[in-house]
Amino acid sequence: ATPAATMVGTTIGAQNGVLFKGGDILERAKDVDTVVFDKTGTLTKGEMELTDVVVFDGDGQPLTDGGDTAADGGQLTARDRLGEEDVLRLAATAEHASEHPLARAIVDGAEERGIDVTDPDDFENVPGHGIQATVGDSEVLVGNRKLLRDNGINPSPAQDTMERLENEGKTAMLVAYEGELVGVVADADTIKESAKDAVSQLQERGVDVMMITGDNERTARAVAEQVGIDPENVRAEVLPEDKSDAVESIQDEGRQAMMVGDGVNDAPALAVAYVGTAIGSGTDVAIEAADVTLMRDDPVDVVKAIRISDATLAKIK
Ligand code: ADP
Ligand code: MG
Repeated sequence: ATPAATMVGTTIGAQNGVLFKGGDILERAKDVDTVVFDKTGTLTKGEMELTDVVVFDGDGQPLTDGGDTAADGGQLTARDRLGEEDVLRLAATAEHASEHPLARAIVDGAEERGIDVTDPDDFENVPGHGIQATVGDSEVLVGNRKLLRDNGINPSPAQDTMERLENEGKTAMLVAYEGELVGVVADADTIKESAKDAVSQLQERGVDVMMITGDNERTARAVAEQVGIDPENVRAEVLPEDKSDAVESIQDEGRQAMMVGDGVNDAPALAVAYVGTAIGSGTDVAIEAADVTLMRDDPVDVVKAIRISDATLAKIK
């Protein structure tokens, strides 16, 4: 494109909240044939809310009522039936030191339910899997199936409960206390209003739309279905450090991929993508790694970015 056309395209972009980092990016965007969306914070609002607390008894059976409460000053042992409030307090205490959106939703949800949440005595983040904390003299785990398995705890008694919640598109997390599965907590996110439109407009243009997430397969597919992404095009349970490899392997098939993301986790993937697009409210790290920034945080602006590129290049022919 001529410098004049590039300037016009860049200006039109800026007026629409689509910031191109350079003229070469503006030229490239029209050739994108695959758009890979991050799930949380990109297709969804990333505003998690605690929705469910399920208690398991010593045999791993879900209790429909709250169970007995061993909380108030009494000694909790793993054999006791913990009540809903106990499970939530343990989970929230373990998560109190974590910055993860899933963790914050658990803490906020507990506080809203009148629980006084304190710091754990010790804790360790297990990236992509959950949190391992010491509360009093006890070990508390909150996280996915792999976190429990890696700690020698069988998560399968909770499988039906987990599946039910995940099929609703929720992120369900197992809670273990002193080496036993004691409950499940779930957080839900809200899908952005325009996510479905963005996906269908891209598909109408002949662009393949994919989704990548660290979240589990079932939750990911439930969200994909709600926004119109083919379940085949979902890459779930991708560890933070593996997101860029996933984008590279998509591009190794000869595709020209646009990665759209918001998180620190997404930065390497944004950098390796043919076009990296950051959500404006995302982390600075993501914005720095990206070629395009969407100031309105609106997935439909992905389509706008591609159309502006089209129009700019068409005009100069
Ligand atoms: P995402 O890409 O969706 O932000 P992450 O890679 O951070 O996901 O985490 C992947 C999965 O690991 C989550 O869906 C959750 O099951 C588990 N997990 C991660 N961090 C936590 C945490 N602080 N508490 C509980 N579970 C967690
Ligand atoms: Mg994200």
